[in-house]
Amino acid sequence: MNKMKLEPGVVTGAALEALFTYCHEAACALPAVNVVGSHSVNAVLAAAREASAPAIIQLSNGGAHFFGGKFLANDEHQAEIAGGIAGAHYVHAIAKSYGVPVVLHTDHAARKLLPWVEGLLDESERHHERTGKPLYSSHMLDLSEETLEENVEISKKILGRMCAVDMTLEIELGVTGGEEDGVDNSAIDNALLYTQPQDVLYAYDQLSPVGSFTVAAAFGNTHGVYKPGNVVLTPAILKNSQDAIAAKHGTGEKPVRFVFHGGSGSSTDEIREAVSYGVVKMNVDTDTQWAFTQPIKQYMDAQDPYLHAQIGNPEGDDNPNKKHIDPRKWLHLGEQGMAARVVQAFRDLGSFGKFAL
Ligand SMILES: [Zn+2]
Repeated sequence: MNKMKLEPGVVTGAALEALFTYCHEAACALPAVNVVGSHSVNAVLAAAREASAPAIIQLSNGGAHFFGGKFLANDEHQAEIAGGIAGAHYVHAIAKSYGVPVVLHTDHAARKLLPWVEGLLDESERHHERTGKPLYSSHMLDLSEETLEENVEISKKILGRMCAVDMTLEIELGVTGGEEDGVDNSAIDNALLYTQPQDVLYAYDQLSPVGSFTVAAAFGNTHGVYKPGNVVLTPAILKNSQDAIAAKHGTGEKPVRFVFHGGSGSSTDEIREAVSYGVVKMNVDTDTQWAFTQPIKQYMDAQDPYLHAQIGNPEGDDNPNKKHIDPRKWLHLGEQGMAARVVQAFRDLGSFGKFAL
């Protein structure tokens, strides 16, 4: 099959639809990487350029706040909204320089974070009025703590608004295990960690008439990297859900676009199996955090004698340490480490080299 060609910059609307359809056809998925500032954005863009594939760049509420600065107070989610807008504008401004198409997205938003998503959505509506495109490609709502009916009902309302400005919604059905951004699901009832196919069918029936959406399903995936526990990754749950919908509606074999949360620490075989059942997006956070921090730790350890004062090191008491202290030196090592890990994610997901950029 021909490699898909996409324009550099933020991908939205029909182009995003075509991108996810292509991922299904080409049996590949894209890494969605959490970023917290321009350094991590640059790392993802460099990786996507090397992989010749589009990237998914996402901000959590905490990441959005951090993008704007921990110095900002967050009354009524103001810092998370302002940081989310600033981060998005940075991506819009720089993606073309890297020649990379980007799906711009936000991560988990439980009920208490709806005002954050709505604040960003207000901005996407203004952006759409000015430019004909939304600021973000998509947002995620994570209403998995609510009843299924309420989850889907609220999602439907937001999707209606998003659809009007060419945006896509990611919903969560079932609960991703582990702990992320202060939400700890590590002690939750085991049954909730596996999404039921009838729940996916229900969401599909309710949402597909409204607009375009993806589903983060729970199939034993966990946030963070832990020693193997009693939760077993079961990608067949995704296949069962696809089959249930295909049987009822006579669609093709992969009617749903799935999102794989908690991809860090998964084996390549597990990832490939999940992708074969219709995963188009896999979130990576813990592994890229590690990849950013590890080279910096090595640098700090190796350079330790040069980092105790601005002047004075093993070469002499009067020797300046300026070139060792410069944050660009170690920040770029972090960026390079992160970029290499994202390139690996493109390979694991089968999307490395599958696009013509
Ligand atoms: Zn997640």
